[in-house]
Formats: sequence, C-alpha cells, structure tokens
Amino acid sequence: MTISVNTHYRENDWFASGERGVSELNRTGDSYRIVAEPGEPLARLIGQFAQLRGMSNRRCSSETSSWPEPERLIAMNAQVFAGLGIAKRNELKSQVEAGRTLYIRGSKPGATCKLDPFGPGSFELSTTTNASSYRFTNDILVPNAIRNEAGSLSLETPGAQRYHPMLRPLLYARYSNDERPIIMAMQCGAGTILFDLTPCPPAINEPILHRLADPSKRAANIGALIAVDTARGRDNTIASAFDLVMDDRPANFDYFGIGRLQNFLDHANSLSPGVHIDFAWTPNQTHISRRYLSVLQTFNTGFVWHGFLRHVDHNQIEDLDGEIAAGRALVNTLTKKYGVVFQNVMVFPYEATNTNILARAGREGFLATMERADSRPDLDDALPIHLSYSTAAHTLGDEYVPIIRRYAPAMLSRGVMLAIATLGYPLIATAHPRDAALRRFKYLNSNGVSFRLFDHVFAFAGEKKLRPLSLEQIAVELQQNNNLWKAPLNSNESSGVSAFPLSAYL
Ligand SMILES: [Zn+2]
Repeated sequence: MTISVNTHYRENDWFASGERGVSELNRTGDSYRIVAEPGEPLARLIGQFAQLRGMSNRRCSSETSSWPEPERLIAMNAQVFAGLGIAKRNELKSQVEAGRTLYIRGSKPGATCKLDPFGPGSFELSTTTNASSYRFTNDILVPNAIRNEAGSLSLETPGAQRYHPMLRPLLYARYSNDERPIIMAMQCGAGTILFDLTPCPPAINEPILHRLADPSKRAANIGALIAVDTARGRDNTIASAFDLVMDDRPANFDYFGIGRLQNFLDHANSLSPGVHIDFAWTPNQTHISRRYLSVLQTFNTGFVWHGFLRHVDHNQIEDLDGEIAAGRALVNTLTKKYGVVFQNVMVFPYEATNTNILARAGREGFLATMERADSRPDLDDALPIHLSYSTAAHTLGDEYVPIIRRYAPAMLSRGVMLAIATLGYPLIATAHPRDAALRRFKYLNSNGVSFRLFDHVFAFAGEKKLRPLSLEQIAVELQQNNNLWKAPLNSNESSGVSAFPLSAYL
C-alpha cells in the first residue's frame, strides 16, 4: 500500500520553485552546446541525457557569432561537421584540445569522413546498412557494466571501414559477413571526439531506463550517454553498488527459520561472493533469537530501520513524536542487548508515507529511505517522461529524506539490471521473507526452490563484479555524487534543450 504525495505539494515545491532546481543544476557548472535546430532529434536526444546527468544547456541567441565558454560537450550532426570550413574546424579543434568532448552523430552510407585537422587520415562509411547484432568493446569510455556485451540488433546503419588506427571502436555492428564499428572515439589533445554513426532516432519520450534495457534500442541511445558521461569525466571503471534488502527480519520468536537463513545466505554467497544483505528490523521486535543474529553476523549483513517503532502504516500514526521517541529508546536497547548497529536508513512498512513523514525522517537524521522503483507514479509523473524510472532516487527537495529506488526480483530482467548498472546506479533488490523461504512455518521442498527467485540477480552481481555495499554506504555515495542523486526536475523537454544556432556555422 502506498499513499501518494498530494498534487498540491508537488506543484508548489517542484514547479513553482523552479529557481531552486535551476541553481541545483548550475551547481555543477557544466553545460553543453548543440549545433542543431532545437526540434531536431539530435538536440532532443542529447538534451535528454544531459538533463539526466544534471547538465545545463547554454542559451544562445541567434545573433551570437562567437562560441560561448565554457562548455564541456559539443554535439553536432555529421552533415554539419562535414560542411565545416577549415577556419571553423581549427576553432573547434582548439576547443576540443582544451578538454571538451565533441559528439558527432549520424552518417551517410558510402561517404568519407576526413579527420583533418583533428588527426590524420579519414574513414569510410559502408554502403551496406543492415546490421543484425552488436558487440561493445572494453574501451575505457564504455561503462564497465556493458563492456563486451553483445546482442541482436535490427538497425539500419552504416559501419566504418578503412579507419585510421587512432579511432578506437566502442561498439561494433555485425553485417552479413563483416563486423564494423558504429561508435568510435578519438583522443584530440585533452579532449575526445566521438563518432556515432547510427542514425539519430526520432525524438521519443520513452524513459531512458527502458531504452537502455531494450537491446534493440540500446545501440541507438548509448552514444548519447557516453558523450555526456565523457564530457563529465565519469570514471567508467567503478562498478555499481549492489545490496539486497530483506524486510521484516529479524522478528520476535523466529526460532525455526535459522537453518533456512543459513541456507539462503550460503546460496547467495555461492552466486555472488561477499554479497551484502540488509535486514529491515522493526524496533518493537525485541525478542530475537541470538542464534539467528549470530548466523547473520557470520555473513556480510546489516540492519536498517523498518518503521519508527511499529510495523504499521505510518500515515495512520497520530502521535508521531511519541512513536519516534519510543522507537529510539528501543533501538538503544537492541543495540546494547545484541551488540548490533542500526544504519541511518529507513524502510517504511508497506512503503507507506506522506510528505510530513518524509520531512520528519529527514529531520531525524535518516540519510535515505527505499521504495520500489515503480511505486510512485505520482512522483514519476512530475519528472519529464524520459526521466521517469530513470533516476537513482526520487528527490523531493533538501528538506525531505531522499527515496532510493529498489527493485523486486521479478522486475529485474537482465536488460533492466544492465540499464541500471550502465547508468552507474546502485542495484538494490528487495525481498520479503516469503520470497526466500525465511518465513516461519513455511516448509521448503528439499531443493530450496524458493531461493531461485534471486538467482539471476545474484548471478548478475557476481558476473559484473558489482560492489557489495550497505544501504547507508549507498546513500552516502549517492549524496557525494550529486548528479546521480539529484536529477533535474525543473524543466520539461522543450525548454531543456536549446541549440547553438546553425547560422553561426554556415
Ligand atoms: Zn514489512
């Protein structure tokens, strides 16, 4: 059960105070420039990904004749790039050499792309365009979660041939009897030039997470993400964090689940060695089996709050002050009695909250709360559609505790896990005792079949070497990485993109 944040709040705090959103964006000092008309697919696509990462665009009037500074990213259609005179090319080159990223998108089958003066030589574009599969390389610019990933692809795009060795393939496409790069990178001084040969898809509003989860759309969208992340200096070697949250445990008088707990933790570690599992403990559960806790302590586990005091819908609590005071007293008791530590993280029972409770949790010092990724359509509605489900957390504002997205195992297809990890977000799987056969009086068959619900998640975390972190560590990391934490809320798509005028180039 989830109680929606009311619309009144949302309008007042998210839209009317757009200035706050703007200042959050500008805190990064990043901006980008698009050489295109604002309505063009490229301008809209790069605008969406730049917005996802909290970059602001530079607004330039059509009278602008010189290029504004500073930007980190310049995005340009291949036709515009091909038509640049040598003076403009030299000007662009000095900007890239100073550390900017130049993203060139699109191509014409059979054409030749001259690299002068950015580097020696040229490359040719194939005349065949029917690509049937793709394969990422392990280049440093490829997010580590999708390095060497391959899949089927149905895309009409030419590939590069006879390319100079200083061009590094990031993504290959397979044609009937050939494999050719369709995204390439080239170092130029302190900057990077990216050639993304795939045609820019028509402007779409589909959530970015879903596009990156869908193998057939991944190839057409990954270039924009790589361009923005390269411009922002993302360290692609850092793997995403991984944690599993088990709600409602430990629980009073749960003496019968100890063997199953041990089996479950052994099984999890066999698939994902060292996996971190947090247990959401309701403070009024004070009669816990010491053997249960001692099993937990032999694994990489932790505890978070599951309610201020009781396992109830917190919207129904009349005396919140009394509830919190009693809960704190019991947590102190538990800490002393069992030698455990409660992280400053709250998982609300039933994920049921309202703005009053979220604000109070923030004032009480909780760093974050967790909710299922799909549980707040009201908040996702407040984001532009392309950002829906595509941020690491719901961020209502500094006065509220942030809500990190967590995922039920059934939602975590390989595509969704790849998308989460490609974006660099923490992968947090949520579990209930019944899912892992940890519930009292529930008897497993001899194979422990219920454990299998998480197998694909543990296996993915193991395969991608995701970092086992506690929820508190994840919350701290997200806070430090402001641009993952605070997705921009203030602008819709049309105002989120403004293009540098083509006239300045022609
Ligand atoms: Zn619960």
